[in-house]
Amino acid sequence: MNRPFPTRRKIGLLATTAVLATVVWLVGGGVLWIMLEQQARLEKDAQHIYDVSSAKVFEATRTIRGLERLAREGDALGCIGDKPERARRREQLRSLQDSASLQGDPELRSLVLKGFSTLDQTLASMDLHAGLADCAQSRAVWAPVMQELLNKSEAVGAEVSGLATIEADHILQSTSDARAMLFMVAAALAIASLTMFGFLYLAVARPVVRLSRSLLKARSGDAIAQGSEYILELQMLHDAAVAFSGAHQELQYARSQLEHLAHTDALTGLANLRMFEAHAGQAFAHAKRYQEAVSVIVFDIDHFKHINDQYGHEGGDEVLRALGSYLRAAVRDADRPAARVGGEEFALFLSHAPTSVALQTAQRLLQGIAALAVTMPGGEAVHFTASLGVAQRNDHDADLRALLRRADLALYRAKQNGRNRVELADPTDGN
Ligand code: GH3
Ligand code: MG
Ligand code: MG
Repeated sequence: MNRPFPTRRKIGLLATTAVLATVVWLVGGGVLWIMLEQQARLEKDAQHIYDVSSAKVFEATRTIRGLERLAREGDALGCIGDKPERARRREQLRSLQDSASLQGDPELRSLVLKGFSTLDQTLASMDLHAGLADCAQSRAVWAPVMQELLNKSEAVGAEVSGLATIEADHILQSTSDARAMLFMVAAALAIASLTMFGFLYLAVARPVVRLSRSLLKARSGDAIAQGSEYILELQMLHDAAVAFSGAHQELQYARSQLEHLAHTDALTGLANLRMFEAHAGQAFAHAKRYQEAVSVIVFDIDHFKHINDQYGHEGGDEVLRALGSYLRAAVRDADRPAARVGGEEFALFLSHAPTSVALQTAQRLLQGIAALAVTMPGGEAVHFTASLGVAQRNDHDADLRALLRRADLALYRAKQNGRNRVELADPTDGN
């Protein structure tokens, strides 16, 4: 393949997207945390400013009220002709004279002091000239003091309202700073998110959509533009699938071959001892559970040593091979294949076979083997016989081995009784 693997570019895009997403979310989270902190601080500042300024406004209001009351009462007292009434009204101002709100700063204090002393002098003069009090004259004396008191009251009002304005401005400034920062962060996050979605679209969504379109086209048999990178990917997918399926098949075949080798005797092509024990063991257990009649036949070539001696090991092998072919054909219909369980020893497990059936089969094999003519490497035809032992499973047989042991004893008897014959096992043999 000359072209670089197209997915590599997409993997790069995906990696960039992942890094970008992480950075965006980390930065976004950090900024959000800072902003929350700042907002909490702002709220605390605003509360502090509110507390301080409301205390100042309260104090200033009391000062203004006190100054205005003194100014108005001073003006009114100058026109009261009744002495006791004047004294009573003057007494009412006593609490004001000692009020803390009129002691604020030295200027205020001296102004209030001056006001009260002017008032007291006017009243004393009115007391002296009892009945001759001149309202206009008293008021004229009081007027400049009154003006000063009202001016001061206005100044205090202006100062406190200026203070509130400055502090309100301060809060407004902080809020608008926070709003601007929030806007900036939101804009940065929006830009970063858009970029991230762009990468996601390029790296994931678009390729998936195109690939699925190509797949749909391929399925419906439509022509697809050649040379498209998605076609390249499809082809590569297809090639990989074919290669994989080929390798899989080869592997399956090799596995089945290995299994076959593991269970098969190489010389005769029959099942080996391992396979026989596995299969027959299972069938025995099943028969024992369901009380089914099953049998085994074991047999051994007679005087095999002579064949080896006469025709060599090769000749002996040829006999074993011929016996294998014969057995594969002769017991083809049996449930279990015949097995080579030793050098020139064989075994057969017969399911659903009571003694009568097993004996019949054994006789058939005896005759079949005797009728075989095996051509030796030198060209001569060799005949041979076998001795067979037959045993049917009974309740004394604990397992397959016990059954085989009885069949072996029957085989041994067949050898002893002259070979080339079938012997039936004693049901109590070996148990
Ligand atoms: P019997 O009638 O008593 O069975 O006599 P026998 O000669 O068959 O006696 P025995 O079982 O003692 O001899 C078996 C011989 O089979 C011995 C061994 O060399 C030979 N043999 C075992 N495996 C093979 C094999 O794979 N190929 C060949 N050619 N010979 C084998
Ligand atoms: Mg033997
Ligand atoms: Mg033998």
